Amino acid sequence: MNKTQKKQLSLLLAGVVLSLGLCSCGDTSGTKDLPSSGTSNGSSSVVPTPSFETPSLSDQTPPVSPASSETPSASSVFTDTPTPENPLEYKHYSYEFRTDLSEYEQYMDPQGSEYLLLVNADHPLSRDFVPGNLVDVVNTRSDRSEPFQLRKIAEKALEALFIEAEECGILYTQRVYSDDGKYYYENKLGVTSGYRSYNTQEWLFNYYVEQRMKEHPDWTEEEAIAYVKLSSCPPGTSEHQTGLCVDMHNWPSADRDKAKDFAASEAGKWLQENCYKFGFVLRFPEDKTDITGILYESWHFRYVGRYHATRMKELGMCLEEYVEYLMPYGYDVNQGRG
Ligand SMILES: [Zn+2]
Repeated sequence: MNKTQKKQLSLLLAGVVLSLGLCSCGDTSGTKDLPSSGTSNGSSSVVPTPSFETPSLSDQTPPVSPASSETPSASSVFTDTPTPENPLEYKHYSYEFRTDLSEYEQYMDPQGSEYLLLVNADHPLSRDFVPGNLVDVVNTRSDRSEPFQLRKIAEKALEALFIEAEECGILYTQRVYSDDGKYYYENKLGVTSGYRSYNTQEWLFNYYVEQRMKEHPDWTEEEAIAYVKLSSCPPGTSEHQTGLCVDMHNWPSADRDKAKDFAASEAGKWLQENCYKFGFVLRFPEDKTDITGILYESWHFRYVGRYHATRMKELGMCLEEYVEYLMPYGYDVNQGRG
């Protein structure tokens, strides 16, 4: 092979590397993992636009150049490639809906990162943390005695979700009575929990501990607490205190044994596939329990705003992972903690 042939081969190889690099970008940040039109769950008209072009984590790894002294280096091949964007810089994602939700856009799609507030056992809230601007939730389930509350921005985004859900045939949970006075729940959407204060969570947690100790008189209090922690958060560590999350299921109370049942229901599937368009994420997914420390909760949805919800979906990250991913870019995990 003479020198000219060698150079042609080197340039050809460089072209292949460049193509692979671009394909990788398309695969990892494209729309293929998002719901497509024509799905069977009633979201056929909900088409995401535009395509996502934000560089993903994989884009930050430079390609390996072929071993040839005459091959253009990676830096020269990628001279025109922009450096990875700061994921804290807001980008607008617009989605098409069946209903006119334009008046809700400002709530579904806020700028900034103040609604990412991470609350878990390692990042608790203080007893006196009370979120501002709490308002009643429109669709508290009909069998609840009084409306739950959320921060206004999350409540308005949830209103939009309910409007679209109803148009898609996903209605609200209703207690339906039969002639003999017995009742059952229709498999529809409704809020069964929203904001819970530190004191409420404390009362709930202590109640569960007392119940377990009555059931198991031989247990110590520490043993009962350890058991209750598997399914209930000690006060200060529940993100219900943020006023940014809701529970939606159709049982008298949350039942982890039925988490998969709700996930497989018409309402559960619709929520999982569409919630990010309204700014919500499924907070405790089945495949992230080792990271969240919370068992799978198919009914618990957390508001973070559309931009971050979309990015979390693209990256396949739960909130713990996403916050850690953002910290090198300057995200302060204590922002908004009070
Ligand atoms: Zn919850």
